[in-house]
Amino acid sequence: MSAERDVVSRQAEPGAAIPHRVAAVRGRIADACRRVGRVPSSVTVVAVTKGHPAPLAQAAVDAGLIDLGESRVQEMLDKAAQVRGARWHMVGRLQSNKAKGVIARATLVHSLDRRSLASALSTRAHDAGVVQRVLVQVNVGEDPAKAGCPAEDALALVAEVRDLPNLAVEGLMTIPPLAPRGVDQAEVSRPHFARLRRLRDRARARWPELAHLSMGMSADFETAVEEGATIVRLGTVLFGPRRDQAYGTRTVEEAR
Ligand SMILES: *Cc1c(COP(=O)(O)O)cnc(C)c1O
Repeated sequence: MSAERDVVSRQAEPGAAIPHRVAAVRGRIADACRRVGRVPSSVTVVAVTKGHPAPLAQAAVDAGLIDLGESRVQEMLDKAAQVRGARWHMVGRLQSNKAKGVIARATLVHSLDRRSLASALSTRAHDAGVVQRVLVQVNVGEDPAKAGCPAEDALALVAEVRDLPNLAVEGLMTIPPLAPRGVDQAEVSRPHFARLRRLRDRARARWPELAHLSMGMSADFETAVEEGATIVRLGTVLFGPRRDQAYGTRTVEEAR
């Protein structure tokens, strides 16, 4: 990573390194797919641009990654006004009083984790005359530091969200617990990914539209693809490290 960082800092154009990184990520996803007999087109990359400026987000879109993710509403709206040709995903913890900001602006909200947020989103979607697509975020690791509804409550929450008139629930999302220092994140994540997949399979047996599994970040996306991810959310591997304190998480580098 440090060699890539040097390349970035020497580039005159912001994001000049992005096409190479996109190609590398696509290759790694294709390899993971091959190992488990999947087709690469069944995996969507959401490029998470939080903490990075709009020109870098534009470089990702220009390199073919039109799905961009943000974890804060205002940052998403600011960048959406500056970046052409993107579809925006809300991947971060969402307060009910910010629900209005994402409706019809985010193609998919990944972080619906409680009933009060579901009803706020549905009300705002109704006001705007749209049906908002959402995923239910599940805390499969029962990690007190992570958002998400408890796994044992997930199917009941899905059932209630399905009954709301202006939400369409299309799958599940998770963020596994952070690996302890010196431990491989992918191996810590794997059983949590497998657990989310089993939950999704149970849900889909009742409700066929629950097709999506949003799981896998820079440190563990190949494992997530092996375990069935249909959406991976990638920041660091595409854009390099960011100052993450404001988001309450550690960077991949710090986690090691
Ligand atoms: C920041 C973030 C990501 C991307 O993390 P990286 O490790 O940089 O790839 C993915 N998902 C969510 C919910 C995030 O907040």
